[in-house]
Amino acid sequence: MSETCIFCKIASGEVKGEILEMDEEVVALRDIHPQAPVHVLVMPVKHIESVAALTEGDAHVLGRMALMAQRVARREGVAESGYRLVVNQGEHGGQTVAHLHMHLLGGRQLRGGMG
Ligand code: 5GP
Ligand code: ZN
Repeated sequence: MSETCIFCKIASGEVKGEILEMDEEVVALRDIHPQAPVHVLVMPVKHIESVAALTEGDAHVLGRMALMAQRVARREGVAESGYRLVVNQGEHGGQTVAHLHMHLLGGRQLRGGMG
């Protein structure tokens, strides 16, 4: 838990957020500024700053994030039509919140290309 981190505050319930699923290690939250009809952020409950800050001990959390994304995609009705999972890292990657998160985007045809 970081005292200044917005995602930690949402995961702990201190700040309101539309949480779609949560377990002891991973939480899925609807993005406040959606870029697609379905835009969900899947993140560890624990404050891990980014992919760059991952350690061996945290490695399983990424797998659990992908599994939660898979379940949320099914419930949001985009499992069949398809979706995109994106993790931004650092400044050039476009990361604006320093708490590791995976974007789940779907519900429309996403453009090709990598930025
Ligand atoms: P990044 O740019 O770091 O990859 O993604 C950060 C995402 O967090 C953005 O899509 C932004 O809309 C979302 N976001 C930022 N602050 C909040 C918040 O307070 N609540 C929610 N639900 N999403 C947020
Ligand atoms: Zn945090």
